[in-house]
Order: sequence, then C-alpha cells, then structure tokens
Amino acid sequence: MEGEEEAHHEEQVEEEALSRVHHVRLVHEFRFEAAHRLPNVPAGHKCARLHGHSFKVELAVAGPVDPSTGWFIDFAELHDAWRPLHDVLDHHYLNEVPGLENPTSEVLAKWIWERMKKAIPSLDQVTVFETCDARCEFRGQEAK
Ligand SMILES: [Zn+2]
Repeated sequence: MEGEEEAHHEEQVEEEALSRVHHVRLVHEFRFEAAHRLPNVPAGHKCARLHGHSFKVELAVAGPVDPSTGWFIDFAELHDAWRPLHDVLDHHYLNEVPGLENPTSEVLAKWIWERMKKAIPSLDQVTVFETCDARCEFRGQEAK
C-alpha cells in the first residue's frame, strides 16, 4: 500500500511540474544619440541649455516559454518594433518630435512605452538611461 501511495504522490508532483508555466522576463538594450533641452526647469538650470545624451533604452518583455521552441520571444521582433522609434529619435532634436516637447526621461519612457506596447503587448518595462548613473523605469500607467 505504502509503495502505491508513494508512486501516486510522485505522479502528482510530475503533473504539477508539467502544468507549471516556465515564465521569463527578457531584456534587450537599444541605444540612440540625441540632443534636447528641458524648457520647464527653473531659470539658470543647466538642463535648460541645449545639450546631448547617449541614451540607452532597455525594453523588458515577460511571458511564458513555448515548450517546443524553448523561447518566449524572438529578439528580432523587438528589433523590428524598435526600428521606427530609433529612426525618429536618433540624431534628432527631441524637442521637435511630437509628444516630446518637454523631453525628460520620464516623458520619454512613457512615449516609448505607448508606441512599443502596441507592437509588443508582452512589454513589461521601459527603462531610459540618460546617463550611466541615472535612469527612469516605467511599467505603464496605473489606474487611479
Ligand atoms: Zn539632458
């Protein structure tokens, strides 16, 4: 009897393992160079002056791994979705881009989120690095 119970228990454990989803979060970096100035900072603030950054953007997607392919998403999908944004941002004056009239990292992260989320519904987080030390993370707007 005991042996049977043990075997039954092992079966259950195996079934549970199979039904559990292999969930992952993948992150890919993208980079672009751009100029900007912040029009709404206090007078004399250094960010009011025209200057540039080597921006780094991290796009994180989250979801289940396909058991047959062993992956969740082809990074090529992220590249394809990012390309049109890169074309608009790279080596441009961000203040002239519609929606980026006040191009803080916070506004930029939301601007990227809104565009990428349409193409990549599994998008989990957008992170904008304005410098090596400072970044803005955005995971979509929460209901009030
Ligand atoms: Zn700046």
